[in-house]
Amino acid sequence: MDTIIGTDIAEAARFLQEGKCVAIPTETVYGLAANALDPAAVAQIFSIKNRPTFNPLIVHVRSFAEFEKYATGISPLVKKLADAFTPGPLTFVLPKKDTVPDLVTAGGETVALRIPSHPLTLRLLESLPFPLAAPSANPFGYISPVTAQHVEQQLGDKIPYILDGGPCSVGVESTVITFENDKVVVLRLGGVTVEAIEELAGKTELRTGHSSSLHPIAIGSPGQMKSHYAPKHKLLLGDIEKHAAEHAGKNIGILSFRKKYPDAAYQVQLSESGNTDEAARYLFSALRFLDACDIDLILAERLPETGLGRAVNDRLERAAAE
Ligand code: AMP
Ligand code: MG
Repeated sequence: MDTIIGTDIAEAARFLQEGKCVAIPTETVYGLAANALDPAAVAQIFSIKNRPTFNPLIVHVRSFAEFEKYATGISPLVKKLADAFTPGPLTFVLPKKDTVPDLVTAGGETVALRIPSHPLTLRLLESLPFPLAAPSANPFGYISPVTAQHVEQQLGDKIPYILDGGPCSVGVESTVITFENDKVVVLRLGGVTVEAIEELAGKTELRTGHSSSLHPIAIGSPGQMKSHYAPKHKLLLGDIEKHAAEHAGKNIGILSFRKKYPDAAYQVQLSESGNTDEAARYLFSALRFLDACDIDLILAERLPETGLGRAVNDRLERAAAE
């Protein structure tokens, strides 16, 4: 299949109307989108990504008013958080309505809803009579794409169109939350910080378990597999200098937060100034770059657990897990 990379919203919409999958830009990462109300279209997402069907998809809608078409339980707290953080990188897991096909929710009773803020994708959603189911546009388990070129490298010729919205501004996936007795439960760390949510909603519970089990019943949020975002090279997470000494003689690529390692053959500093937002924005590109280098090993370090540092550390831990 010839894959077109372009910025033509009408053309992207036409493929989606025909039941095909299209890659779309969002502020978090690029998504592999299909008509969320058409199970045959959604089934292609799973096969193109090689994604297990027990892993539910996020449904992208154009506005908060759409939530009630697909979900119940839209409490004042949900509205308050949506007012504050959407359009943006926050996903709400709510009891589903029958309008949502079972394949989208992996047979579960809840649906994940999000309003992305990327202007091209918002305009695309406004032009369509259906919402878009979209996971990240990468083969299951591999590093998420943050440019149209990343999508082309991995899914080119499997999809007819990649809507090019430039590099993603946030760079890590959305924060996924649900609600229990009007308390926020965080199922996945992501682009909206826990601190920001707690400022509005009070203390949250973190349920982002690193379960290695492959069955959703054992995992709060079914996509939260222990090994994920994995580069092909082995990645060791921790003290870079200690690991470098232990692996002297090997070809090493270094992924540091701020520090420069002048002797390293390959190194990426995520943010020289120590800005965790900037680090999140470059994380997946940096992992891809190092993965393409002729090295034996990637050595990475954790960021401070503030701001988007927590979401970056979560991704690094999963990238390091085997
Ligand atoms: P991805 O779009 O690939 O980043 O993955 C979407 C993630 O959203 C999944 O891996 C789950 O962690 C989460 N998710 C989607 N739907 C649900 C749901 N109904 N309940 C809990 N988590 C969900
Ligand atoms: Mg993903």
